[in-house]
Amino acid sequence: MSKIVILGAGISGHVAAAHLRRKLSKEHDVVVVSPNGNYQWIPSNIWVGIGRMKSKQILFPLAPLYKKKGIGFKQAKAMSFFPEGDATEEKPYVLVEHVVGENKGKEEKVSYDYLINATGPKLNFEATEGLIPGQNKTYSVCTYTHADHAWEGLHALIGEMKKGKKVKILIGTGHAKATCQGAAFEYILNVEQELRKHKVRDMAEITWISNEYQLGDFGMDGMLLSYGSLTMKSNEMVEMIFEDREIKWILGAGVQKIEDGTAHYENLAGEKKSETYDFAMLIPSFSGHGFKAYDKTNTDITDKLFKGFMLVDADYTAKPYEEWSVQDWPETYQNPSYKNIFAPGIAFAPPHSISKPRKSPNGTEIFPAPPRTGMPSGITAKLVADNIIDSIQNGKESLAHKGSLGNMGAACIASAGYGLTSGSGVSITTFPIVPDYHKYPKTQGRQLGKTFGEIGLAGHWLKLALHYAFIYKAKMKPFWWLIPE
Ligand SMILES: Cc1cc2nc3c(=O)[nH]c(=O)nc-3n(C[C@H](O)[C@H](O)[C@H](O)COP(=O)(O)OP(=O)(O)OC[C@H]3O[C@@H](n4cnc5c(N)ncnc54)[C@H](O)[C@@H]3O)c2cc1C
Repeated sequence: MSKIVILGAGISGHVAAAHLRRKLSKEHDVVVVSPNGNYQWIPSNIWVGIGRMKSKQILFPLAPLYKKKGIGFKQAKAMSFFPEGDATEEKPYVLVEHVVGENKGKEEKVSYDYLINATGPKLNFEATEGLIPGQNKTYSVCTYTHADHAWEGLHALIGEMKKGKKVKILIGTGHAKATCQGAAFEYILNVEQELRKHKVRDMAEITWISNEYQLGDFGMDGMLLSYGSLTMKSNEMVEMIFEDREIKWILGAGVQKIEDGTAHYENLAGEKKSETYDFAMLIPSFSGHGFKAYDKTNTDITDKLFKGFMLVDADYTAKPYEEWSVQDWPETYQNPSYKNIFAPGIAFAPPHSISKPRKSPNGTEIFPAPPRTGMPSGITAKLVADNIIDSIQNGKESLAHKGSLGNMGAACIASAGYGLTSGSGVSITTFPIVPDYHKYPKTQGRQLGKTFGEIGLAGHWLKLALHYAFIYKAKMKPFWWLIPE
């Protein structure tokens, strides 16, 4: 009998738990530890943030589902890791703290045979002074509660615009190394369309602020896309969209401080500038959760498990940008020191950024951290689960399932406005996510036929279809496993 403990019930953790439970017989335990009692389909936060969906439409409680499916659930947060056990506990364990009910505040040693760390990112608002969701007129759409606040703020602003107030809206990244440009891009297009629907578009100046060197970088060094019968650079595509919608842009900007209605930033030229706003949605930087790890004698071994995020089978050797290769990226998400620990999704430490690193003359690094979107989070979780299943069933370690961001694609369908007949979507499919300049030297590291862009109503329908399909899948309804990650 084996016990598999999964930390986190986001896209990665939930996918891993579902596959493990479906394929392993009931003599094996699958236990999920997560502080939030709900599963949330994060991509649809965008629609919550423009008031087109209620947060209850994008979430559901985990406990009843897990009970029905035979998955153990502890509503608790992981605190520290003991991969060798300790003086009193022989088995490896994670120390967790319960966050609800009569056990609230109580610690528990949760032992395991296999551990999947799927805790995603810490939303590191503290890294930017004054960047607090719902305060200083800045908002976030990274969680459903943030998205609810964002809609409250936007709704109030629309009310003021209807009374004749001219406003400034700022959307983008709130830190020099923030990632998730795609979510901010989606939000700015949705907000723009929403203002048009409310007939107040002419009352707002809308500006994109980002740490990207060029528009359409998305933390992936941009891409060359097939666009209909044309070939187009992603910066040209985004520029076309922004110009069409009269959205201004500020690039190479590392936001350093927020005051009420003012964002202070340094740009790649080393200039210190500021931008005023009446409403801002700025994505924070993402970091690891600051977990600690200890060996059997209680000696700190955090650096064997973490480098901010969790260490896996990547090549972490520090080397210049010119020497980076797709082979640096992990394939099995297994910790090199403790072979029964895995970290799929956002929880693993990337070997380096994907975007070319850039510094201002003052030495400030301003460029996006690598994005890790939902599709690779699901795929890496499934392959980790499959390797654990094989290892249990074969009685010896098996790592046959492999997948690197260097041989995996990402389909990103950015909603560009809600509405069954008037909606829009920008669909960008990239293959591979990490460019392979050896395989595809003439097309900026990507395979052109599989890297393409499209704009139109079909994108909105597709995004809406994905919302329903993935919530169906997450609820583990009949034949859920036929829906791909
Ligand atoms: C607004 C927005 C829109 C997006 N849109 C898209 C999109 O359209 N397409 C796309 O592909 N991707 C999109 N993404 C990215 C996508 O949401 C992420 O790639 C994905 O959620 C990552 O999955 P994950 O499981 O690694 O992390 P998460 O989904 O963040 O899950 C982490 C889990 O860990 C839990 N946790 C945190 N701390 C602890 C702890 N101490 N102990 C135990 N558990 C813990 C959390 O509660 C959560 O359940 C979007 C992201 C945002 C913010």
